[in-house]
Amino acid sequence: MMNVRTAAKPAPVALSDERSVTLLGATGSIGASTVDLIKREPGRFRVEAVSANTSAAALAALARDVGARFAAVADQSAYGELKSALAGTGIEAAAGANALVEAAQRPAQWVIGAITGAAGLRPTLAAAERGAIVAIANKECLVCAGGLFMRRAAAAGATVLPVDSEHNALFQAMSAGRREDVRRVILTASGGPFRTWSAEQIRGATLEQALKHPNWSMGQKVTIDSATLMNKGLEVIEAHHLFALSPDEIDVVVHAQSVIHGLVEFRDGSYIAQLGSPDMRIPIAHCLAWPARIDGPAPRLDLAQIGTLSFEQPDLTRFPALALARRALEAGGGAPTVLNAANEVAVAAFLSGALGFVGIAALVEATLAGADARGLLREPSSVDDALAIDHNARLLSRELLPQIAAKDR
Ligand code: NDP
Repeated sequence: MMNVRTAAKPAPVALSDERSVTLLGATGSIGASTVDLIKREPGRFRVEAVSANTSAAALAALARDVGARFAAVADQSAYGELKSALAGTGIEAAAGANALVEAAQRPAQWVIGAITGAAGLRPTLAAAERGAIVAIANKECLVCAGGLFMRRAAAAGATVLPVDSEHNALFQAMSAGRREDVRRVILTASGGPFRTWSAEQIRGATLEQALKHPNWSMGQKVTIDSATLMNKGLEVIEAHHLFALSPDEIDVVVHAQSVIHGLVEFRDGSYIAQLGSPDMRIPIAHCLAWPARIDGPAPRLDLAQIGTLSFEQPDLTRFPALALARRALEAGGGAPTVLNAANEVAVAAFLSGALGFVGIAALVEATLAGADARGLLREPSSVDDALAIDHNARLLSRELLPQIAAKDR
């Protein structure tokens, strides 16, 4: 948040004015929470564009529901279905990578970046490059090319607001003091479904078990990332870019109840935390209404009923993905790009049954180890270069997959 406009600057519009919003990744979990909030505030938000990957029918239904003007699917083969589902509505249909960029470029003041994976980089960046207020959930795009993203957003005068609950918490807590008085930040982690499992039990974890997050209901990719703790690793890198923090200014603590989402420690020893139910509609509402607030539908906290808040160190032996992400951040250059790409390949392989749970971190580690020889650890010089590193890291991961999968069974 250091490099771009922040909450300290005046709001571009008053909250009573109608805000135009584009939803990238509208058919997902964050998309659904955003639509829910928008529909609760009739007259406050107008939806300009919505996007999905392949879910043409769901996107068309959503576009009609919210009265969007433009709907785009990334997958060209889903175009026919989208077009016929929108026939006679006046909503423009489009498909392909450029259509997603067009969705982002259309004149909406707010863009919610909720695509999963590095696939979100180009469209989300297109929104930032036209100076929009970009509420970003898509952490992978910051891990893939965060330095470039934040520099370009700053140059365009964009405002980047964090949707991710931990970063949104930090953003809110940071407003309690001056940025130069921040000593460090602490991201909380639920610990995922395997927090109390032994290494041996984790080795046998099934897809069904990994998809059962104890506190949050989310899309599959981020749910698996939460089970490996790679999610927290990606978030450490995300925090580095969003708030211009050095790696040693970002700590992680496991907090099983997911009530405190993030803390900021100031130089005088004060800790400012943000608390709330584990419901993404809280940070999304904060971003949609920023710098004001709207009524939120999330369940309220009953602290007496919660009773105890617990904290523990993350166990990097049982959850090596967090350590890998930290090492990639410290190594810099293309290492985070490679880490993210390998993790996307590994999670997809786990979801399809081609890789066991512990194979996810093992494949990421093997890809990082092999990346140097392929020249993939260079600092990406441009977005195209970052995407080339991403592409080649995926190829390397897919080559390594059979041997890692074999070890893991
Ligand atoms: P979902 O999987 O539920 O939804 C992803 C959305 O992105 C869908 O609209 C999907 O379209 C679209 N999409 C997926 N792949 C592509 C692609 N290759 N090109 C274009 N569009 C694509 O994900 P979530 O909503 O859970 O997560 C979205 C992002 O937000 C992720 O980066 C995640 O880490 C982050 N996040 C999510 C949280 C949550 O609570 N869900 C919490 C914090 C962060 P389609 O329906 O066609 O597949």
